[in-house]
Amino acid sequence: MNLYIDRGATYIRYQIENGNIITIEESDIVSLIRELTVKYNIKRAYISFAGEVRDNIIIYAPNIDIERLDLSSYFPDIQFKIDNDLNCAVLAEAKYWSSRDIVALYIGTGIGAGAISSGDIVRGFSNLAGEIGHIPFKKAPFACGCGKDNCIELFTSGSAIKKWADYLNQDFKRLEDMPQEIYSEFLEGVLYASATLISLFNPQILVLGGGVIEKNSFLVEYIKQNIDRYAYNPNLKDLKIVQTKLKDAPLKGAKFL
Ligand SMILES: [Zn+2]
Repeated sequence: MNLYIDRGATYIRYQIENGNIITIEESDIVSLIRELTVKYNIKRAYISFAGEVRDNIIIYAPNIDIERLDLSSYFPDIQFKIDNDLNCAVLAEAKYWSSRDIVALYIGTGIGAGAISSGDIVRGFSNLAGEIGHIPFKKAPFACGCGKDNCIELFTSGSAIKKWADYLNQDFKRLEDMPQEIYSEFLEGVLYASATLISLFNPQILVLGGGVIEKNSFLVEYIKQNIDRYAYNPNLKDLKIVQTKLKDAPLKGAKFL
């Protein structure tokens, strides 16, 4: 049987073959697979992981407490296909939108991107291309999961909302409850990240997804209205900016690995 897993920063979703997608919080991926192998005869596991993955081995994640993890050493009878969650998501998006030049920008706990150019995932030398969350933006009074203090993820992400609430000792959980100045920086970060991706990859489609976009879909319209102030304008000709229509894109994309 096939097992599909989406290991996000705050949840795990999994599916056995074509069964229901089950979401659990805060679980260890090794114990989850161990539990499932007791019940099911799992031959192959396709995993989307919110962090760094190389040659089907989990290396590191800024938002998940995990060290180098080679799942095949725990489960030698299972064949593993593992990739970064945004690489998986953009695979699913490319299928859905029938595009060979597409960039997925997902804002959830973190802010991440995956790009397909001329039909291929843009991976870089060590499968790390597209780590948009850690491009320099502005200095924050606290550190990112990666150790730096100027990442865009510190201003524009779900974890940013929480970090600013903690720092200011205020009790806001929603984007629209942020103090005006922080809220403006959040919005600026959305445009900055979008424009950077558009200029770097010249996509046909920029697709927005992730929990923060899902809860604040006005952001997609906001990008459409304001992106010309940030992006290189020739790149905007014929560019489509859309909100994802997929539920569980990383999990769906893992099936295409
Ligand atoms: Zn960072």
